[in-house]
Amino acid sequence: MKLAGIDVEAVSVGGLETCIELPAFDIAFDIGRCPMSAVKRPRVLFTHAHMDHMGGIAYHAATRDLVGMKPPTYFVPRENYEDVLGLLDAWRRLDRSTLPCNVHACGPGDRVDIGGGRIAEPFRSPHRVPCQGYAIVSTRKKLRADLVGLPPQELQRRRLAGEVVSEDHEVVDVAFTGDTVIDVVDREEKVRTARLLILEVTFLDERVPVDKARSKGHVHLDEVIERAALFQNEALLFTHFSARYSADQIVRILDARLPPGLRERVTPLLPASTPDRMR
Ligand SMILES: [Zn+2]
Ligand SMILES: [Zn+2]
Repeated sequence: MKLAGIDVEAVSVGGLETCIELPAFDIAFDIGRCPMSAVKRPRVLFTHAHMDHMGGIAYHAATRDLVGMKPPTYFVPRENYEDVLGLLDAWRRLDRSTLPCNVHACGPGDRVDIGGGRIAEPFRSPHRVPCQGYAIVSTRKKLRADLVGLPPQELQRRRLAGEVVSEDHEVVDVAFTGDTVIDVVDREEKVRTARLLILEVTFLDERVPVDKARSKGHVHLDEVIERAALFQNEALLFTHFSARYSADQIVRILDARLPPGLRERVTPLLPASTPDRMR
């Protein structure tokens, strides 16, 4: 699918597996169970160490090695760094392989170069275990603020005279929350303003009420609706729906409950869109 002009290949079912690929950025977020397409991504940014988000890490590294691809780079929360190294070492001993890969620890406040002129900025996503989302930021040129409104001939004259008429500005292309409670929307401007927001919305109706959703460390649709006016995103991809909801139910509930102005920008990542997976 293409959202806000960005290609996204994704699978996500709460508790079972999540893997979000951005082919044009050459990255993936999380690998719960490694889809074959994700093997192609040389960089993976992990949000947290729940099995449905990190379970496929060793498989990813091993499969890339098997088919002769260069060692992948994994970005993991600082809290997980030592244990991820230990996990990979355990796999090396178990299958007598070298499992080539690079692991980098990062956390909120860092700016991580992910290639292609893009920076990943981790931010805190409050969850049951340490978790961080990522904002993917690129730098664009735009006309210097003090020159806005000048006639084109004047700008051309200044350019020819050697004046620099543009300035850099940063655009948040994508924000991916990972698993989180809704508070991340209130706290993180990048989440509210990213061109494409990929947000977990695990629970959708009274079958799991808001307080239960919060205690499980997840977002409930009621909380999204309360904040509808906060989302300035061009497009939103809702992910990580609980396996208790069918694709039909998800669409019906979103159609019925999301206010106009938000509904048109929301694409649900439906279980039926992943026929090669277990659902
Ligand atoms: Zn999860
Ligand atoms: Zn989780």
